[in-house]
Amino acid sequence: MPKKKYPQLTAEEYNTAYMKVYYFLNRDRLLEKAKRPVNCPSCNKKMPYSSLSYHLRKCHNHVKQPKIKNNLVKEDGTFKLTFD
Ligand SMILES: [Zn+2]
Repeated sequence: MPKKKYPQLTAEEYNTAYMKVYYFLNRDRLLEKAKRPVNCPSCNKKMPYSSLSYHLRKCHNHVKQPKIKNNLVKEDGTFKLTFD
């Protein structure tokens, strides 16, 4: 049996370690994106991008939309996939 080179990680531990490395490597780019000025689509207030989601939730009761749009329609307890 060959000796294991890498530690055995759970999915959660792996994701945490991965995000740490990802943030370390892309720190400047991520911070630049977070601090770029944007206008609120509802009240046109100027703010950094990192504050926009908080502002939308608190001031406009905005519900977060999922990034991936799935066409999963529920009909009478069964799931029906639609591709359109
Ligand atoms: Zn607003």
